[in-house]
Parts: sequence; C-alpha cells; structure tokens
Amino acid sequence: MRDLVIIGSGPAGLSAAIYAKRAKLDVVVIEKAGYSGGQIITTERVDNYLGLPEIDGFSLGNRFREHADKLEAEFIDDEVLKIEEITDSEGKKAYKVMLDKGEAIETKTIIAATGASHRKLGAAGEEEFMGMGVSYCATCDGAFFRNKVTAVAGGGDVAFEDALHLSSLCEKVYIIHRRDEFRAAVNIQQKVKETANIEILPFYEIKEIKGDKKVTSVQLVQNKTGEEKELGVSAVFIAVGMNPQTDIFKDFVDLDEKGYVKAGEDCKTSSEGIYAAGDIRTKPLRQIVTAVADGATAVQSVERYLHQR
Ligand code: NAP
Repeated sequence: MRDLVIIGSGPAGLSAAIYAKRAKLDVVVIEKAGYSGGQIITTERVDNYLGLPEIDGFSLGNRFREHADKLEAEFIDDEVLKIEEITDSEGKKAYKVMLDKGEAIETKTIIAATGASHRKLGAAGEEEFMGMGVSYCATCDGAFFRNKVTAVAGGGDVAFEDALHLSSLCEKVYIIHRRDEFRAAVNIQQKVKETANIEILPFYEIKEIKGDKKVTSVQLVQNKTGEEKELGVSAVFIAVGMNPQTDIFKDFVDLDEKGYVKAGEDCKTSSEGIYAAGDIRTKPLRQIVTAVADGATAVQSVERYLHQR
C-alpha cells in the first residue's frame, strides 16, 4: 500500500510531489492529460511568480516537472475513474484509486490537485462551432486568426490577457462583457485600454454564435435595453472562468456552493486522509504561487496524519 497518491500534476500536484519525495514518502502522481503543468502550460506569459519575471507558462510548467523528475517522482499517465474507501490489514481507513486502464492503487492518503476546467458560456452555437472558431485557449489557437476580427467573452484576467495576446495578431479584438466592471487586475485593464485595436463592449451578452462551417458572426444582446446586434467575427475566445474538477471526490468530501472542495490552509478536507491542494480548494486567491504553497502544506498535513494514524 502506498503512503500517498497525488491526483493531478499542475503546480499544486508537482509541488506536493517534490515535498513528498523529500519526505521519503512512497508516492505516485496520476495525470490524465498526458503532460504536466496544468493550466499554466497554455499561459503565454507569467508575470507574477516570484523570481521568474516574464517566463512563459510552458517553460515554467516544464521546469516544475523537471524538478519532480530530478527527485525521481513516479508518474502514471492515466485517468482516475473512481475512488473507494477501504480498510488496510490493520483495520485502518485507506483508499483504492481505480484507473481507466485497469490498475487499482491502494493508498493511505490522497492529495486532490485536479484543478479546474474551462466554464462554458452556454450560448447557442458554442458546441457546434467548437474548434471551428470557438476556442477556450487564445494562446493555443490565436495564430489561426491572424489579421482577422475576433471576440473574447469575459471580464476577468484570462479574458483581458487573451485580448492582449490576440491584439498582436488580429486586425481587431472585441471584449464582450456582461457588466461594465471587470475582475481583471487593474494594470492589465490599463494595458487593454491603451491598446488601439481592442474595443470593450460592456453590458453585452452573446446570444448566438453563427456561421456556416466556421464562425462568421456573433449575435449580441444589450442586457439593459434588450437591443440586439450582429458582430462579424472569425473567432470567439471564451474566458468566463473555471469549474473545479471534483467529480471523483464529491462522494467523500464536502464542497462549497460553487463546487470547490472545502478545505482550510492546512488542506484538510472533511474526509480523513484526503487533502485538497491548488485551484480545487476553497481559497481567496487562485494563483500559481498559492497552488505551489498548497502542495507543500498538503504534504505536511499528510505526514502528520501518517505519524498519528
Ligand atoms: P474569473 O476571474 O472568474 O472571471 C470570469 C469572467 O467571466 C467574469 O468577468 C465573469 O463576469 C464572466 N462570466 C462568468 N460566467 C459568465 C457567463 N455565463 N456569461 C458571461 N460572462 C460570464 O475567471 P478567469 O479570468 O478565468 O480567472 C480564473 C482565476 O485565475 C482568477 O482567480 C484569476 O485571477 C486567475 N488568473 C490570474 C492570472 C494572473 O495573475 N496573471 C492570469 C489568469 C488567471 P462577472 O464579473 O460579471 O461575474
């Protein structure tokens, strides 16, 4: 039986992996994406991770993984389908982690570090035109729309960063947002306002994404007046936030009303032996630095639990 299974290899999972290896725990990391780094892999530039100004997300993700590899952390590329509660040979609580390819791993503890996935807008045409002008990753797909007119939906950091990235490639970029206040950091809002080919359309919502085989326009509704207008665009980048990936844990741990795993700074969940680290956890600030900190803290909680178990 393993001491620890870490599920997810974004910044929280990889940080947990290096702390667990240094603590000489028998640990394995499960990653379903086939690569490590989580959301930061598609982040063009990370400007707020201490000591590494202006590093690109792909490089930072790779450096995190290289660090875990250097400590010989073990990784399995597979998806966790189900977790079961079991008792070990001494009658103590433990878990069985079932993987898609058939393997089942018994472990005394689990760190849930599965992060969050892109929230859907829910507009007509969104599913239909996915990959044909509808994208959730401007860094990945922006270059396909060089010199075209594009739109970004949302008013957070991701929407504003996406718009700035697209402004260097596209003829024009619209930011479509349902309010006239923005969650994006003030400095990035300022940069957007100073960029000539970005236009913000406040109080607008996307009713429908239209096209033939590819996106050609969006039908907008002004949510104060009900006025509608059609805007010609070749692509819509949707950046309306994230949903925590908690499906495999929800039968074991308490979630808050938005679906995040309830856990404090010690990363302890409502279930003994299960810890939550990174974006999946209830917390005031979801950033790389807070995810990395969670990875370390979660392992410390695991060690304490294993000692008194
Ligand atoms: P976010 O901050 O939650 O913003 C989501 C945006 O989408 C909000 O403007 C929200 O509008 C809008 N929205 C949500 N549901 C919508 C719907 N159904 N229809 C229309 N609009 C909708 O999400 P995010 O930008 O993805 O960022 C996620 C987290 O990562 C945040 O904590 C962010 O600070 C962090 N992050 C940080 C950095 C950085 O520090 N460099 C970079 C990227 C992300 P309302 O405001 O009206 O609710």
